[in-house]
Amino acid sequence: MKIWKYFLLFFFVSAFAVAVAVAVYVGLIYMEYKQDKEAVFSKLEEFAKVLETENETDTLLEESNENLSEKKATVVYDRNGRVITKYSSEKYKLASIQEMPFFLTRGFIYIEDRKFYSHHGVNYLRLARAVIDNIRTLGHAGGGSTISQQLSKILFTKHERSIKRKIYELFCTFELESRFSKNEILKIYLNSNYMGHGTYGIANAASFYFGKSASELTIAEAALLVGMNRSPERYSPIRNRKNAEYILSYIMGKFVQAGFLTEEQSVFEIERFWERFGNHGILGEQSIWKTEINKSGYLTEYVRQVLEKEFGYDKITSGGLIVETSFDLEKQSLAESTVSNQLKNIRTRVKNTADKMKVDYSDKTINHIEGSFVSVDYETGEVYTLVGGSGYLFSNQLNRAINANRQVGSSIKPFIYAKALEIGELDGRGIHPFTKFKDEIKTFKVAGRSYTPKNYSLSHKYGSMVSIYDALKRSLNTVAVQTMELLPMEEVVQLIGDAANIKVPTKRIPPVLSLSLGTAEMSSLELATAYCVFPRGGKSVYPTMIRRISDTRGNVYYDSKRKINPYFRFLQPEGLCEVKTLLSQETACEMLQMMGGVFERGGTGYWAATTCGLNKKAYGKSGTTQDYKDGWFAGLTGKEVSACWVGIDSGESLLLSGEATAAVIWADYNAKVFSDTSAQLPVSENMKLLKICRESGLEASSRCDNCIDFYFNANAALPEPCYIHSDDIMIIEEDF
Ligand SMILES: [Zn+2]
Repeated sequence: MKIWKYFLLFFFVSAFAVAVAVAVYVGLIYMEYKQDKEAVFSKLEEFAKVLETENETDTLLEESNENLSEKKATVVYDRNGRVITKYSSEKYKLASIQEMPFFLTRGFIYIEDRKFYSHHGVNYLRLARAVIDNIRTLGHAGGGSTISQQLSKILFTKHERSIKRKIYELFCTFELESRFSKNEILKIYLNSNYMGHGTYGIANAASFYFGKSASELTIAEAALLVGMNRSPERYSPIRNRKNAEYILSYIMGKFVQAGFLTEEQSVFEIERFWERFGNHGILGEQSIWKTEINKSGYLTEYVRQVLEKEFGYDKITSGGLIVETSFDLEKQSLAESTVSNQLKNIRTRVKNTADKMKVDYSDKTINHIEGSFVSVDYETGEVYTLVGGSGYLFSNQLNRAINANRQVGSSIKPFIYAKALEIGELDGRGIHPFTKFKDEIKTFKVAGRSYTPKNYSLSHKYGSMVSIYDALKRSLNTVAVQTMELLPMEEVVQLIGDAANIKVPTKRIPPVLSLSLGTAEMSSLELATAYCVFPRGGKSVYPTMIRRISDTRGNVYYDSKRKINPYFRFLQPEGLCEVKTLLSQETACEMLQMMGGVFERGGTGYWAATTCGLNKKAYGKSGTTQDYKDGWFAGLTGKEVSACWVGIDSGESLLLSGEATAAVIWADYNAKVFSDTSAQLPVSENMKLLKICRESGLEASSRCDNCIDFYFNANAALPEPCYIHSDDIMIIEEDF
């Protein structure tokens, strides 16, 4: 034999062997498929029957049979065992083909599978093209599936290995085509495809996204749903507005091609769609995932985001998860109503101010005035309340308490003065809370440019000597900047970063002179935890919101008391959770007493506290940023440290200071909230109680009649005896 004949023989033998191997492989898959087939198709036929007669159902096609009997929804509890949220395993809405508008069904076929009515389950030409495209793009092209194939995919979700699964799906597709009519296949598919955010089928998606039934869908709504089919979360108008805009225009363009409507009508419909969707808020269901009970949108949404990072949708809706949180529902509902009610008042006040100042300020801007509020147990760092805005709506989901970093203004000052007290001596002068600075306008040179900070009040009279105590109380910028100029900048940045648990501090806490007036950017949660440093005697704390995640079978996935929680590192970031000593107990205690002064007559918290009837011992500090863009107040009553922000997301001016905005929400909440203990000063044995004469800011003599008690660090500089009311020497008034 010639050598080429051997080659030929070898070739045929190998080809035969490969063919046999493939046949055996396919045969084996077929055997496996045959075993599952009856179970799957009997379930499918049952579903088809339900579709025929009912308009809602308990079970979905996509769920595996095994877990059905022990399906348990995830429940989220507050610190007292009250249910905050229960994710629903509620009934699913169904819709017949007749109920769905023609542009939905016809449009769906036009986009997904144009030859749907003529092929026998597989469009070979398209499949071949898809295979080639996938080889070319290394599996990134996807597609090529008919509607029947897509339905098969839903039926056999548990087979992960892709070639095996593809063959499996082919058998299933042929069986589908032989058992059901084309319209039945279409109906089953459109009632069971995943449409994002936990919704299945067109009827549920119509209700979830647009608050209507399938028959009421407009052409643009239908187009968006058609476009979302392949990748619902990616094109979700809630999560990804930009992507949704793109896909809607794309599909509407296809609809124009198909002759469903004209180009002009399409433009009009798209515009009308976004106009309605943007303002709808009241339409659709009020949670990004379906819930049976939902006591607070902000808490539910926060927990959902945490769970979504680690668990799939099925686990959350039917895995029986138990989520124990640190939140306090009673306090949360008080905080939510306080924020929402007081924001109404604040909007009115801003409007009146705008009218008085003759500033052009539209109603739209007024309505965009928002707020956030957080409160924390300073002993444990457990978060009681988390309010992300004026009310949780589809159109207002941003959780500003966590996700909006804004400049904190004068709320930063306690950290500046704390650093000065901690160092104890600046420019050769001993520093204590009553050390005096001249309240004057000074120009500083910063990187070659001049910087001239002024106090907020336009009618302010400069020139007097003021103590740090009074400067904090009245929020005098001049004194804060003078102090900052004498401090080691990097250490101040580090202190603030460590207190607020911000990992790379210099990014959001710039080491510049104006940091003393609050150019640092923080969320309300960060500011609240930063303020915990003072009542904690100088020690940092990391906030806890999730205490424990377990399930009804006793598996514990996360426990905040555990040292290591492998899959939940984001809840306890490395390097941030350890308690650090940032200030001495003496400094922290002095600072806290100074923050008590803010509520005295003349202090920036006085008006809000008296207006709201706050008569508990309180410590705090207001904040206002440049051009009145942000209003802040942070502080504590009892064991609860809270921080409040008021502003406009896009950064317009509020025309009012923090004293008149955030301070009011803060004081109103703290006046009403129940606390069983009053705040304790962290006094140490190295501290000395002195009487201070308010008039002179010096140690009172027996002749001073307006005094306050103050605990001083006994090892640092102390105020001198009051010479105004001294027994010994008469001081001539003019000299003082
Ligand atoms: Zn005196």
